[in-house]
Amino acid sequence: MEFINTCLITTGEFRSLALYSHLLPTIVSLILGFFVYRFSDRSVKVRLFALFTILLSAWLLSDLVAWHSDNYYAVGAFWSILDALNVLFYVVLLNFIYTMTAQKSCPPIWLVGVSILITLPVITLTAAGLSVLYFDETNCEMSTNEVLAKYKLLVEAFSIAMVGLFGAHAIFKNFRDARTRNRTITLTISSMLFLCIFTGSEYISTATDIYEINLYALFALPVYILILTFSIIEQKTFNIVSDSFLYAKLLFFIFMIVAGFNLVLADDIYEFMITGASTIVTTGFGMLLLRSARREVEQREQIEKLATTLEHTNIKLKELDKQKSEFVSIASHQLRSPLTAIRGYASMMQEGSFGAVPEKLAEPMRRIEESGKFMATLIDDFLNVSRIEAGNMKYDFGEFSLTELASTITNDLQTDALNHGLLLLYRSEVTANGIVNADRGKTQQVLHNVINNAIKYTKKGSVTVYIHNTQAHYVIDIIDTGIGISPETSVKLFEKFTRAKLASSSNIAGTGLGLFVAREMARAMGGDITVYSEGEGKGSKFTITMPRPKK
Ligand code: ADP
Repeated sequence: MEFINTCLITTGEFRSLALYSHLLPTIVSLILGFFVYRFSDRSVKVRLFALFTILLSAWLLSDLVAWHSDNYYAVGAFWSILDALNVLFYVVLLNFIYTMTAQKSCPPIWLVGVSILITLPVITLTAAGLSVLYFDETNCEMSTNEVLAKYKLLVEAFSIAMVGLFGAHAIFKNFRDARTRNRTITLTISSMLFLCIFTGSEYISTATDIYEINLYALFALPVYILILTFSIIEQKTFNIVSDSFLYAKLLFFIFMIVAGFNLVLADDIYEFMITGASTIVTTGFGMLLLRSARREVEQREQIEKLATTLEHTNIKLKELDKQKSEFVSIASHQLRSPLTAIRGYASMMQEGSFGAVPEKLAEPMRRIEESGKFMATLIDDFLNVSRIEAGNMKYDFGEFSLTELASTITNDLQTDALNHGLLLLYRSEVTANGIVNADRGKTQQVLHNVINNAIKYTKKGSVTVYIHNTQAHYVIDIIDTGIGISPETSVKLFEKFTRAKLASSSNIAGTGLGLFVAREMARAMGGDITVYSEGEGKGSKFTITMPRPKK
């Protein structure tokens, strides 16, 4: 029998276009399908995607044979399975889109049932050899089964509509979650667009008899497959080290495919050499980039791990800190009552309530009283610190005169100052009556602490309490001619337990808690405390600010 090769004549002009338009999407889909499958958790969603890429590639290859082969047995054989493959990949895609948009692990039974029902007639017809009717040798074309063609169109339209419905439902459901919503919109629109291009081009080419429209439409495929891949990655189906690294790798793959194609399609040896050389150079750079990206990813992973450990440690530390504050608080409360008894009895004994105190006992009694006083301050400081740290410090706001309070405290401390041989001065330049809205008791504690410190840390000279005001604040400067503070100590003076070396070595009793508590209190009332000293031995100036009430 003579073999008339009509196919060679009829398809000749589109051969290279057919090759390019089919092979590129096939390779891209297969690689991405494999890639996603290889690096993912292999959930049903991923399996559906991989199956879709396989079916699609099978369809593309069969279609390529139908376009390209000059053996009409081959053309006939592959042509006959095209519709079945076509319906299959639409239905698989539909199931995939459902799992993606609904964020389910697998498609529901009803959808699987509908999918099987839809595909069964096509598969049966194809298996029975009824998908094509006869071979038209002159045109190298199969005469397709019209009923099947219409049915296929129906399935395609149904799939497109369902994709739209699934998408719309998911968008509506996740409307408030911008990330999911945008992802769903991208996925739905790109899927519908792709399916419409695919079905539409088929429909138009049949209607107009211009079949190369089909070939051009296929170029939309790689882009669509890429979008699907990125959607899967976005949904964190991947367990791979890092997304950005994955993207880089994917782009590199795509580049290699396109470069490979350019090489295959080079017209002459020179073009081949130039393309080859540029491909080698770019590939080299690409690999270098990938390597540095991997290193960066590994480093980031390590940092992330460290950050998590640190976070855990931090939580534990906070817990410990809380427990410590609770312990201090309980312990201090327990110390307070016996101390009150000790101080009370000591003072009664000094006052002679239990008879006259012998001369010899006067000094020890005075020491008992002083130590008791110091211990009471200490306990108060501990309690205040634990209250501040637990966020339990209560403030009782009310209006009072700051000038009056400051002058009273200064007066009260005159005896102490005199005992130290110091001059304690008070000067006010406040124009109004100095009314502030704050906790009176706490403000008194703050002022007392700072003025008392000035007396404590000054050996000779004076302490001046100078109160004045700015537009928004009352300012109280406590200036002394005392031991001064070095710049290194100044910066951390308001931290807990900070004491200057000079203070400790001068045998002046203290805990290093007073200023911490005072500043916390001042800040909680809208004010602040700052310190300035020119250095050790050069005196200090503490500045307390309190906000003026707004008129
Ligand atoms: P304490 O006086 O109990 O040690 P404070 O928190 O009140 O604790 O003060 C912290 C430290 O700040 C003091 O130990 C001292 O070194 C330094 N300091 C505070 N006031 C003065 C001052 N007027 N002059 C010099 N140093 C001071």
